[in-house]
Amino acid sequence: MAQGHGGRARSRGAGISAVRPATLRIRVAGSSSSIPRPGRACSSYIVQSAETAIVIDVGTGALANLRMACEPADLDAVIISHMHADHFLDLVPLRYSLKYGQRRRATPLPLYLPPGGERTMRRLVSAFAPEIGGDFLDDVFDVVEYRPDNGIVVGDMHIRLALTHHWVPAFAMRIECESVVFAYSADTSPTESVIEIARNATLFCCEATLGLHDELYEPRGHCNAAEAGLMAAQSGAHGLLLSHYGSEWSAEQLIEGARMHYEGPIYVADDGNDLRL
Ligand SMILES: [Zn+2]
Ligand SMILES: [Zn+2]
Repeated sequence: MAQGHGGRARSRGAGISAVRPATLRIRVAGSSSSIPRPGRACSSYIVQSAETAIVIDVGTGALANLRMACEPADLDAVIISHMHADHFLDLVPLRYSLKYGQRRRATPLPLYLPPGGERTMRRLVSAFAPEIGGDFLDDVFDVVEYRPDNGIVVGDMHIRLALTHHWVPAFAMRIECESVVFAYSADTSPTESVIEIARNATLFCCEATLGLHDELYEPRGHCNAAEAGLMAAQSGAHGLLLSHYGSEWSAEQLIEGARMHYEGPIYVADDGNDLRL
């Protein structure tokens, strides 16, 4: 990734570094926290290597952005960090895309849900598509609940998971491909397990839901920008991508918050970012 003083990551196809061949390509399909910023979607990231393409989280509104960046039928897997709407709700239109879209798959798309996630998903579907029942999902998805201790392997990507500190069981991810590491905090307040999952990562994508709030209550399940910077520093990550934020603060303010603790390059995610690691 290009070094620099950071800034809002350039959007709509302009990568932070498009100069050298990349091992991993990260495209941001959703960077909002639970209330989508105007014209933006909730959490979703396409992670792509030369031979593998996965999506981490498919939050509210993300499918429209995903479709700008990739053909959903060509994905190798979808992995959901936790069962909050801003991380999984667009699995519903993704299902329609896979079922009725112009491109169809020969085999179901592996859908990795956190422990307990399958029951949540099937209850949701049964509320609006009871006549289709289980087939609503199983027609197009191979639904699997991952075992966090075992990790996940998809093609040439090795994914480690770690329980975060959040309101429901949520899992941070460490995606390794060759010597490149993309780490993703999911939703969390500062916690050792997330620092460990981001250890020496090439890029650490960390939530900054609480922006510049510094009157921090307990218990809570989110970070402010300063805490995201502190976790990045403690992990030794080589770059920090702030994400999962609302409309209250500018990118410059979020960077300023994270800069209190972190000296490396800091970027603020936006929908359409195209990053090369
Ligand atoms: Zn959450
Ligand atoms: Zn969230």
